[in-house]
Amino acid sequence: MSNRRAQSGTTDPSQKHRRDGQPPVACAPGSEKLHAFAYGGSAPMQGATVESETPASRIHELVRQIWGFDRLRPLQEEAIRAELDRRDSVVVLPTGGGKSLCYQLPPAVSNETDVVVSPLISLMKDQVDGLRACGYPCATLHTGVGPNEKEQVLRNMLLGEYRLLFVSPERLVSPGFIAMLKRVGIRRFAVDEAHCISHWGHDFRQQYRELFLLKEHFPEASVHAYTATATPRVRDDIATQLRLRDPQLLVGDFDRPNLTYRIVPRFDLHAQIRDIVARHANEAVIIYCLSRKDSEEAADALRSHGIEARAYHAGMSPDERRKTQDAFAAESLNVVTATVAFGMGIDRSNVRCVIHATMPKSIEHYQQETGRAGRDGLEAECILLYSAADFLRWRSLAQMSSEPGADAEQVRAAQERLLNEMSRFCTKVGCRHRALKEYFGEEYDRPNCGACDVCLGEAEGIEDATETAQKILSCVARVHGAFGVGHVCDILTGADTEMIRRRAHHRLSTYGILRDMPRKHVINLVYQLIDQRLLERTEGDRPVVQLNDASWEVMRGKRAVQLLRPKRSRVRKTRAEKDSWIDVDKGLFEHLRDVRRQIAQERSVPAFVIFSDAALRDMARKKPTTPADFLAVQGVGSKKLEDLGDAFIASIKSYCSEHGHEGNSRL
Ligand code: ADP
Ligand code: ZN
Repeated sequence: MSNRRAQSGTTDPSQKHRRDGQPPVACAPGSEKLHAFAYGGSAPMQGATVESETPASRIHELVRQIWGFDRLRPLQEEAIRAELDRRDSVVVLPTGGGKSLCYQLPPAVSNETDVVVSPLISLMKDQVDGLRACGYPCATLHTGVGPNEKEQVLRNMLLGEYRLLFVSPERLVSPGFIAMLKRVGIRRFAVDEAHCISHWGHDFRQQYRELFLLKEHFPEASVHAYTATATPRVRDDIATQLRLRDPQLLVGDFDRPNLTYRIVPRFDLHAQIRDIVARHANEAVIIYCLSRKDSEEAADALRSHGIEARAYHAGMSPDERRKTQDAFAAESLNVVTATVAFGMGIDRSNVRCVIHATMPKSIEHYQQETGRAGRDGLEAECILLYSAADFLRWRSLAQMSSEPGADAEQVRAAQERLLNEMSRFCTKVGCRHRALKEYFGEEYDRPNCGACDVCLGEAEGIEDATETAQKILSCVARVHGAFGVGHVCDILTGADTEMIRRRAHHRLSTYGILRDMPRKHVINLVYQLIDQRLLERTEGDRPVVQLNDASWEVMRGKRAVQLLRPKRSRVRKTRAEKDSWIDVDKGLFEHLRDVRRQIAQERSVPAFVIFSDAALRDMARKKPTTPADFLAVQGVGSKKLEDLGDAFIASIKSYCSEHGHEGNSRL
């Protein structure tokens, strides 16, 4: 059955139009470029080669031609094969792993229309923009599409103009739409962000549950699920919910070696953020905050130091949010302080740093949010400013905001478990890359990752940690476990407060015993003790700190303590940071970024639609001055050569002559 479709190479789009008696549809975005890649390159394939027998060379040729990529990333070929074979699949690749290509390529090979389900309008729009810039015909239908455009898209759809149609789950399962898709004869569906279907996951969406209808209405079609974050349980759930038949499971390497992870004690949030942002001048930085207020404050604090930053959160009007998002995409804005509302639709692949001002509520969230760094494969930094207070804050938020519904209890239990795992991840002093990989059920065999604070040896312990801990704990003992963290720290640092005078706490032997240390540091140390369960903090409105059995062991000298020094981070350069700049002319790279920004602005598209940073760095390395050399740059396909080659080659030439060195002209 699946051998039925032949790839004959005879379907010239112009002929098809004639056959249909229709002129090419001028405003079908990208459709006029169909021939630019779908049939070009190699000679028509001999005879009736079935898709499932498409040679690897054909796949590579199209990847080269459309996207300008020289090779496929791990598991991309396998995922593409599963689609071409029409075998259901669950593909789990980390963010930035290149999932989109896996469902974008097959319809270009088989020359038909596939459907992609995606949860967010902005995600769909970004992909459509990026694909059209490569001359790839596709469209999206969502609530923001007006009636005229919608009609046009549907008409083109029936004509088979598109290789991909992106739709929201609600639209996909509506009866009229299903009937239309049946008319078109859709035979392949891709479900993006497939973890949204599982309430074991971290981003459950009710509408995704309806997607089981796909198999009911299209029993002949294959369904391919894609996700970045899936524990084995979520993975199984995806296959079950979508009613997949003997799906091929492809699980990629979750490690992102180009990311450097750091988890450092938070003791002076805004100053710490400022330090980090300063390391990334002119680069894209996202700072994730827990609340709207936090994100506003972080942006204000940066601006008051002359750093242009904007907040982004669900409390802003859609218009304001769009402006911020567009400015970030166009590279006129580099620093965004945001709640988790920001991100899923962000396709700025050159984010060089993601800061978490507070701990996220699950490792899945952490993986997804940090995953927005370095999607171009170049080095990037992910830094989490941690305090045990975060755990307590999430916990009380979860208690307040539990949603009603049949699944409520299950969802709540799952959330609690995820939060505990996250907290453990933060407090464990071990390789971060290893911990992440192991969390997702994989082994990590490198003894030293060379790209986390622990392996780089950046985390610095306090020499007299046990003694310091004893001082703190005995202060808690003196006040009989009846006060909160703040007051205990006031006593330890010898503060002069109303409460201290009223309680005569300045007479305690522990008064001022840590007066050489800034109060913020002492607070941080107290939370480190809480994390290590060497001290308890009660719950409720007025939490107090109390001793437990372990505290007494420490005070009696029966147990040694390790504490990290709260300090401004001293960071070391990783290998990826050094390697990715080898032979790159940094001045030319910055110049090309300006050129990109300008072209993006003129065309009102995000900068990534023009070229990725990886492509610009390769240009600044190879300095091509002829079309042939330009085509050899990573990320330059035939459409981009045609469209952008002249402008970039001219800029490279003029930059090189101005700076007294030659481009790489072989002429
Ligand atoms: P995901 O959806 O898995 O998070 P994307 O599909 O957005 O990742 O891909 C991330 C980036 O990697 C994009 O900029 C994409 O163009 C690029 N990319 C994908 N496949 C390749 C490849 N084979 N070679 C080079 N770059 C690639
Ligand atoms: Zn490590």
